[in-house]
Amino acid sequence: MLMGEMATLTQTLSDDTIELLATEFEREIEIVSASDDDEQEVVFDDSEAEMVQRPPVVTIMGHVDHGKTSLLDKLRETEVASGEAGGITQHIGAYQVHHGDDTITFLDTPGHAAFTAMRARGARVTDIAVIVVAADDGVKPQTQEAIDHARAADVPIIVAVNKIDKEGADPVRVRTEMATIGLNPADWGGDTEFVDVSAKTGEGLDDLLDTIGVVAEIQELTANADTEASGVVIEARLDQGRGPVATVLIQRGTLEIGDPIVSGPNWGKVRALIDYTGERIEVAGVGDPVLVLGFNSVPSAGDLAMVVDSEKTARTKAEERDTRLKAEAIARRSGRKFSLEDVFKRDRAGEEMKGLPLILKADVAGSLEAFEDEIAKLPQSEVLVDIVHSGVGGVTESDVMLAAASQAIIIGFNVRPVGDAARVADHEGVEIRSYEIIYRALEDLRDAMEGLLDPEQ
Ligand code: GDP
Repeated sequence: MLMGEMATLTQTLSDDTIELLATEFEREIEIVSASDDDEQEVVFDDSEAEMVQRPPVVTIMGHVDHGKTSLLDKLRETEVASGEAGGITQHIGAYQVHHGDDTITFLDTPGHAAFTAMRARGARVTDIAVIVVAADDGVKPQTQEAIDHARAADVPIIVAVNKIDKEGADPVRVRTEMATIGLNPADWGGDTEFVDVSAKTGEGLDDLLDTIGVVAEIQELTANADTEASGVVIEARLDQGRGPVATVLIQRGTLEIGDPIVSGPNWGKVRALIDYTGERIEVAGVGDPVLVLGFNSVPSAGDLAMVVDSEKTARTKAEERDTRLKAEAIARRSGRKFSLEDVFKRDRAGEEMKGLPLILKADVAGSLEAFEDEIAKLPQSEVLVDIVHSGVGGVTESDVMLAAASQAIIIGFNVRPVGDAARVADHEGVEIRSYEIIYRALEDLRDAMEGLLDPEQ
């Protein structure tokens, strides 16, 4: 109370306040968050011998209308035609394609929004990003955005140059444009694989699958299959007849009917498993997407789901987490997770400073360039600025999710949050700082470095 917070005995305090108190009382504290959950951080010590190869998980991203959905549809159609899958009718959020000896899992919600939303929750799902660029249209703003999202997640990129069947298609131009933004084609001596495809005729799809196979092999994707299952929820909803259903992408172990399972504050016992072909199955293995029936309530996409030893444990864990999440939601209202002043406070507290990730948005391209030039002039020994993404236009929800996933701060020049962005930023604890002139932003950066910054209200 002497610090100005009229706290009662049962009130939840913000992280900042707790840290201040700890300093006052000369105590060491460690802040543990329920959202970057204990289990989410679990390191499994599987021995090499237990590890088996698992299918790569691929997300398709790119500019609107460049053919993401068509590509996913065509790949699925080819899988059905090959007879591997009966007649695929079930949409569960992901499906698999069999190609030679390889199995590849595709997430069938295209685009970087879903990808980054999951990452913001701490889930790492995608192994490879396929960036689709229409050969008759070339690199567009959302192409760049998709690349930035994939790079921020450190996921390898394959470029699919689509619509090569169309008149006016110019795959060479696409390569040139991509090279100027840092994706150098392997066939030109660079290290990014480009594949020419047509989602309409199916041309090049075999090549694309081959290339995914090669890139996956380099990553040596393995997992322990012979243990209790855990994975990430990629989609979930309330089904009228079946109750809560969740698609879980199994990342480790084998999931079986009857397994007690917990995901965030939700729990249950696996009542039925349905695969992407709509078939009821008894077990689901590593790399498989599977629809799980039996949760008591609807889990959230991006949350970890894991099998535990008993229903009782599942219930207890879920209830504990529920309480913690609620307490955190209250605390979050009184403090931001990543703010400019915090970054430097952490630095001065002697914590390792990995850099200052920024997302820049402006009304004109000129401001972005000028700001980036000025930042480059700052002494980088003091602040390692990392521009995760920059673009022209208002601050969007997608920018906010990228910031949340990358622990970045958003700086806007003459632009405001659009749509739901401000609300989401508030919820995710992301700071959006708005400026009219770039020198003010630079001043704030310097002040923050020197510990003089007043928090923006
Ligand atoms: P998305 O917004 O990226 O998911 O793009 P869509 O898959 O919806 O495709 C946008 C439009 O481009 C649709 O009218 C498709 O039929 C068309 N399209 C997609 N791929 C191809 C292609 O390879 N060739 C041709 N000619 N048209 C395509």
